[in-house]
Amino acid sequence: MSEILLKNCRVYTMDESVPYAEQILLKNGKIAQLGTRDDNLASNNSVQEMDLGGQTVLPGLNDSHLHLLSYGMALSTVDLSDVSSFRELIAKVQNYIDNNNIPKHEWVIGQGFDEENLQEKDFPTREILDQISQCHPVIVKRKCTHVSGVNSYALDLAGITAEDNEKIEGGKVYLDQDGKPNGVLAENAQNLLSHILPSYSEKDLEKYIKLAGEAFIDKGLTSVQSDDLKAIPGGEDMIMNAYLSLAEKGELPVKVNLQLQLSSEEEITTFIQKYSPYFQSSVTDYLNFGPLKVLLDGSLGGKTAALRQPYLGDQENFGIVTYTPESLDSLLDCAARHHLQIACHGIGDYAIELFLDSIDKIQAKFGGDYRHRIIHCQLTDLDLINRIARQNISVDAQPDFVGSDYGLLEERLGFARSINTYAWKTMLDKGINVSGSSDCPVEPFDPRLGIKAAVTRQDANNNPCGGWHPWEKVSVFEALKMYTVNSAYATFEEQVKGKLAPGYCADMVVLEEDPYSTPPQELDSLSVNKVFINGKIVK
Ligand SMILES: [Zn+2]
Repeated sequence: MSEILLKNCRVYTMDESVPYAEQILLKNGKIAQLGTRDDNLASNNSVQEMDLGGQTVLPGLNDSHLHLLSYGMALSTVDLSDVSSFRELIAKVQNYIDNNNIPKHEWVIGQGFDEENLQEKDFPTREILDQISQCHPVIVKRKCTHVSGVNSYALDLAGITAEDNEKIEGGKVYLDQDGKPNGVLAENAQNLLSHILPSYSEKDLEKYIKLAGEAFIDKGLTSVQSDDLKAIPGGEDMIMNAYLSLAEKGELPVKVNLQLQLSSEEEITTFIQKYSPYFQSSVTDYLNFGPLKVLLDGSLGGKTAALRQPYLGDQENFGIVTYTPESLDSLLDCAARHHLQIACHGIGDYAIELFLDSIDKIQAKFGGDYRHRIIHCQLTDLDLINRIARQNISVDAQPDFVGSDYGLLEERLGFARSINTYAWKTMLDKGINVSGSSDCPVEPFDPRLGIKAAVTRQDANNNPCGGWHPWEKVSVFEALKMYTVNSAYATFEEQVKGKLAPGYCADMVVLEEDPYSTPPQELDSLSVNKVFINGKIVK
């Protein structure tokens, strides 16, 4: 029986009944006992003692929505998150091609541009991307991944034409003045490329998953809830096999709850038939499945989030919604028949309302404690928030979005509507379970950045002064709760994770500093000195 006694530490347990301790005894990967400095916790002499020298111990952090595999894959693409003009974008991708000797005709993939940060304030079209290369297919994805730009080579290779606009639902091929595709593809129009994008092997995927998982641990994440099935179009089985194989070999670095993005009733039924044995008894506590992830609209940045009123200065544009009310009803009905929790990507107020309407119907029909979720939940108002609270729906928030988006929110929505965005404090005060996440690779996965942003409502450079819509700032305790207790509640794991209490998994982070006595603007530089998963030191 392996026992470890952590002594001389400040333990913030996140457990209401015993909020603070100074010693923890770990036994067989679980928390066995907590005590203060005077208690004698060790039950035998073979216990391994560890003096933490006054450091802080918290439950392991849990990101409730990100894309682990996409992040792992992005490590082998060109990072465009820091480019500030088309010229820089072109130069960066060209350098990548030159430095890596990418052979002609092979794909070049860039990821993470944000047109708001570009001088030109526009999406890169084929005209721009042709300047990178005319002999490589080139795709650059917006940081939200809802909009991409491709060069002429890629457009021709995929055979994309203006007529495709009539065939695709919930997507758009942008056209130039001559009515020809200009290279910008939004939402489902991006699927027109799926048959020509590069292919990966299962071994590649295992490598990417491990790379990403190890990076996550380094910053204090012990659990992540990851939406990966659509990381490679048509690659669901290979992705599942990669995860299952790593779990069976005991090689998943971090605990993963896989969010299952399945977009039709047929996909749901086929998937459940194939994988339900793994749902019932998980291979290890490192891999669990659910909820169903439904993608209902796009992003505010890409002007594809579905709104009740049009975008400011663009009276025809209400965004894109990927399901009709009827098709959403039948999709959710199918999910409910399979007893699936549902997590809906909903950013615009129209999408959120549509989801709530649909949830009302399945709740009335099936009942049960499903803790359905809205991922992002950006543009709301008090009525919507009250409905979310009443329907016991959880919200997966991305505090980092505040820093990235506050500039564009007024531009897209006008000031009055912008007041009702990212209203996490209001939601928490209404009793809504708001969990913390990054949507990585959309934002950096580092949970310290998210905790800081939730507390300060500022970007990495501490702008705007005083915080954006500062009445929505949360306390340090609330921010930590979002990344621990609340994330665990979202996956029905509040009895095993998110707190440090007897019987809970010994998933913990050890910080040099105490977050409660750290100035809010320095919360992103807390030092993660040690990380434990199931009582084992993994950092
Ligand atoms: Zn996402």
